[in-house]
Amino acid sequence: MPRLKKPDYRQRLAALRKSLNDEDVDFALFNDQPRLRYLCGYTGSNGLLIVGHSRAEFYTDSRYTTQAKSEVKGAKVAIVPGDLLAQLPKIALLQKGRPKVAYERAQFSEAQAKRLHSSVPNALFVGLEELVAPLMAIKDKTEIATIEEAVRIADFGFEHILEHIRPGVREHDVAAELEYIMKREGSEGIPFDTICASGPRSALPHGRAAMRKIRKGDFVTLDFGAIYDGYVSDMTRTVVVGKPTSKQKRVYEVVRRAQAAAVRASRPGITGQKLDDVARKIINKAGFRKQFGHGLGHGIGLEVHEGPGVNPRSTVTMRPGMVITIEPGVYIPNWGGVRIEDDVVITRSGHRVLTQSEKKLIVL
Ligand code: ZN
Ligand code: ZN
Repeated sequence: MPRLKKPDYRQRLAALRKSLNDEDVDFALFNDQPRLRYLCGYTGSNGLLIVGHSRAEFYTDSRYTTQAKSEVKGAKVAIVPGDLLAQLPKIALLQKGRPKVAYERAQFSEAQAKRLHSSVPNALFVGLEELVAPLMAIKDKTEIATIEEAVRIADFGFEHILEHIRPGVREHDVAAELEYIMKREGSEGIPFDTICASGPRSALPHGRAAMRKIRKGDFVTLDFGAIYDGYVSDMTRTVVVGKPTSKQKRVYEVVRRAQAAAVRASRPGITGQKLDDVARKIINKAGFRKQFGHGLGHGIGLEVHEGPGVNPRSTVTMRPGMVITIEPGVYIPNWGGVRIEDDVVITRSGHRVLTQSEKKLIVL
């Protein structure tokens, strides 16, 4: 892994401040881990970041004193009692005038939002749809290199798990082994429960690993990822145990063609909707319209599901620096299913596929 440049928090805060201007608010408030990490470098829990046009303050409790002081960049650190929202009435920054304070609705529970609105009598709290998400969706070089390392670890895991997939082995054990291999290769953990779904269970798009034993003739779908320096990868491959039937080959080829076409179409200017449609048309034409029930993909970064959406409802336009998954699937109840998922970065001239694992049907 090459030495990576430190994130430019100053630039991130500057971009956020521009959004504050555009939204006509005085401050923005954050308490969720991905955003705290993204905006000021804090990797602990229980943090509250207040960003104003000219200053930023970060609050946490005494368990995180040392960590906050060494990690937080661009904001003044204050250590306060643990219930951070209860501190809001005491924060001097919010007492002057009648400040407008924005927060992202999705990041605060209803109960928390209620507390916000009644916490500082002179302040007006405004719940916004999104504020930092559009900034987080465009990755810089360092972020892309970090994701690439998470992708490399997942590719490594896939290569090494293949020898463990054989008749008689439980899905659960395949998933556990895969997670162990990736952890030894440098993964900080798993971004979501590893999916290992075999035989008829491969028809469940999100079938978590179970105690079912793999049998000869099964499709086995593995959907998993690694985490490197906070950034995730997310990949899926379906393999077959023993000689594939002609139906298995046919279904696999449809998904493979749909996946390859959508990857080829990935470029700046195309919307999430249009990209989804490229794969969906191929699957529909092959007669599996009802068997592809989920969106084509999603953004990845510090979170495993973030912007931009790549699905029939996504009007977001792809831009250089976005990192998305392309993951069509066909799921036939009581028979089995196939999904192939790559991580793809949108570049100025088109795209670059980060996931390197084989996409031809692997026969074990
Ligand atoms: Zn996945
Ligand atoms: Zn995914």
